[in-house]
Amino acid sequence: MSDEQSGQATCWQPEIERMDREALGQLQLERLEATLTRVYRTLPFYQQRFDAAGVDPDGVRSAEDLRRLPFTVKDDLRKNYPYGLFAVPLREVVRLHASSGTTGLATVVGYTRNDLRHWSSAVARVLVAGGVSKDDVVQVAFHYGLFTGGFGLHQGAELVGASVIPMSSGHTKQQLRIMQDYRTTALCCTPSYAMHLADELIEQGVPRGSLSLRVGLFGGEPWSDAMRRQLEEKLQLSATDNYGLSELMGPGVAGECQAKAGLHLAEDHFLAELVDPESGAPAAPGAVGELVLTTLTTERCACGRTLARMGRVLGRTDDLLIIKGVKAYPSQIEAVLVALEGADPHYQIVLTRKAAMDEATVLVEVSEAIFFDEMRRQSGLRETIARRLAEELGVHVAVKLVERKSLARGEGKAVRVVDRREG
Ligand code: ZN
Repeated sequence: MSDEQSGQATCWQPEIERMDREALGQLQLERLEATLTRVYRTLPFYQQRFDAAGVDPDGVRSAEDLRRLPFTVKDDLRKNYPYGLFAVPLREVVRLHASSGTTGLATVVGYTRNDLRHWSSAVARVLVAGGVSKDDVVQVAFHYGLFTGGFGLHQGAELVGASVIPMSSGHTKQQLRIMQDYRTTALCCTPSYAMHLADELIEQGVPRGSLSLRVGLFGGEPWSDAMRRQLEEKLQLSATDNYGLSELMGPGVAGECQAKAGLHLAEDHFLAELVDPESGAPAAPGAVGELVLTTLTTERCACGRTLARMGRVLGRTDDLLIIKGVKAYPSQIEAVLVALEGADPHYQIVLTRKAAMDEATVLVEVSEAIFFDEMRRQSGLRETIARRLAEELGVHVAVKLVERKSLARGEGKAVRVVDRREG
């Protein structure tokens, strides 16, 4: 029976994506055992960790046993930079990527040929769930390089059989020309860069009807539903969120389907657990947890996929800001700005320290009309933004309006936080 006949959405790997949950649990357990045995036998790092925690890798039989396993944290990867935690010799590694290293020393990831095959098929699932087929012209406007975005989406789109344009990020004018001339139907990039492209199109006076865009697959940074609505309206496409991180191969870890009600996780490759960031204990479904999985639901989705869904990502714990003792994610600020008339979702948070107190100032770009308008309207908007932010974040932050395009435009991940605190 075809997907159309059954009324179910098209899946790249239906045998996995619609797998019976009990069978999936069995598959996860088998793969977990194989992984644990392997790292224990090949890496002294894990042998020491497991021994110290009193964990016998052959004795892990259930999800409960999983809780006794020690965590691997970013610092472990940094301390073993660059190749210390590779479980295979370099001669079996055919590709290297790295995290951006913006919050410290970059962490390096190696892929075997088999890893690349798994990675491509995981990205293909995300693309198909987002509405891409072999009939599409896919413009990959993620950066190609050590960052996993460009190559990750590229391989997945090629596997699906789409016509792939390896644009990489930047060269915005050329990007837009090619989008029109090559009749791009699917755009893959960060949501902030998509917003930049949309604003440029409007500025150049390109009529929306002259584009062939149908779907946008945006990821690489947290974004809000309000931002989704703006992108869908400005670019006239259906936008879906997808998630990944280089430590878990890159994009393809999870992606939204057309139901847009959470991101389906590649649970055959990754076992998702929701953990309380403070205690390390399991967090209740529906809670905000570390690994930034906001919710994890195994309820069947309207699309027919049985894979669990995670809520939209608030931010990486690395991005978490603590302003006067209150936790805030940049994506919360974005959600407030998108909803406000006159303010653009181009913003930057500047952190400073005065007399041992952290202060946050949010710089917000506003339209020329407002920026050059009388002071009264300007201060009115500034106060409104400050009030809404205080309501959303639970802490007062200073707001400064700046002229359009005065904040650096990220071509990849937007620079949302500038930390000027010392010590
Ligand atoms: Zn779904």
